Amino acid sequence: MPGCGACASGDATADSQISFSLATAGGKKGLIHMNIMQQDILQQLEQLQQDAQTALILATTTESVRDWYSEYLSRKGRLTAILRNLGNLSAEERPLIGKVANEVKSALEQALQERQAAIAQAELDAIRSAESVDITLPGRPQNLGKLHITTRALRDIYAIFTAMGFQIYDSPEVETDEYNFQLLNMPEGHPARDMWDTFYTTTPGLLLRTHTSPGQIHAMREYAPEPIRVILPGKCYRYEAVDASHESMFYQVEGLAVGKHITFSDLKGVLINFANQMYGEGRKARFRKSYFPFTEPSVEMDIDCVLCGGKGCPVCKYTGWLEMLGAGMVNPHVLQNGGYDPAEFSGFAFGLGPDRIALQKYGIDDIRYFFTNDARLLDRV
Ligand SMILES: [Zn+2]
Repeated sequence: MPGCGACASGDATADSQISFSLATAGGKKGLIHMNIMQQDILQQLEQLQQDAQTALILATTTESVRDWYSEYLSRKGRLTAILRNLGNLSAEERPLIGKVANEVKSALEQALQERQAAIAQAELDAIRSAESVDITLPGRPQNLGKLHITTRALRDIYAIFTAMGFQIYDSPEVETDEYNFQLLNMPEGHPARDMWDTFYTTTPGLLLRTHTSPGQIHAMREYAPEPIRVILPGKCYRYEAVDASHESMFYQVEGLAVGKHITFSDLKGVLINFANQMYGEGRKARFRKSYFPFTEPSVEMDIDCVLCGGKGCPVCKYTGWLEMLGAGMVNPHVLQNGGYDPAEFSGFAFGLGPDRIALQKYGIDDIRYFFTNDARLLDRV
């Protein structure tokens, strides 16, 4: 064991004393005599400082720095654990160890502050960089809401017919067999019922209306014997095999005019006026004979194709004509069912499909797009 000038070799305490070089002890280098306990604590403090400084470099987040503080400097940390042994030292020995311990503690606290500041700055820089705005980027277009194509077609239809003196009349979507069929000249077992595949409810005699025509009876029974002009818009339901041009739920707009001296010319005039306003002036129209149980005579009305001008295209199936609606003079029995005397009153009725009108007007090839909630459809028109 090396001695030094300050200790007497062979002293009774020589065995328990060592010479220890400590850079931090008292702020000066030198060989200091101390016992094993002192040496051990000082080594522990030196080791602690080294460990702590290395660990602090590896702590890169606020959370890991908190863990570091807890391990080294907190009341349950390693520094406190070492200092607990101070009680075993003599009163003379304690000040040196206490001084070194305080120096270690201050050095670590200083390092901690610097580390915290560096981490806070790094976190701030990260937020700034993540939230920074590049003012040279072009703006993003805003998606503006639009009305559904069917809604637009319906509103156009309302505007045109109300300008001609028609009122909008609401009638129920759940109907009785009587209103949906019987009062429209289709008693039970009538073959014309096959034209409408029907959704029946679990209540006998109640069904989802297959067309808006039962509204004719409701309107007539409400207003008879006054003359009426109404349109009856709404949803209809049919048990259809769904394809590009058929849905099991679709819109219809029924029209009805009842009064004295109403003729087929009135029907033609109203419908041609409608076509010109809906599709643009100068439309050609043609009427083909048809059959509906509740009108007599009955017709189908076609207009020249709005997309190809009559030359022929996929939408008009190369015929140059688009089927627009079905119509006719109200059958005398139906007038009677509505409360009008057919000897005195006459009327016309028509039924058109706003979905189909929207398909034709905007050149859309599949009605199923209307119900898929894909907003890109709205941008196509
Ligand atoms: Zn065409």
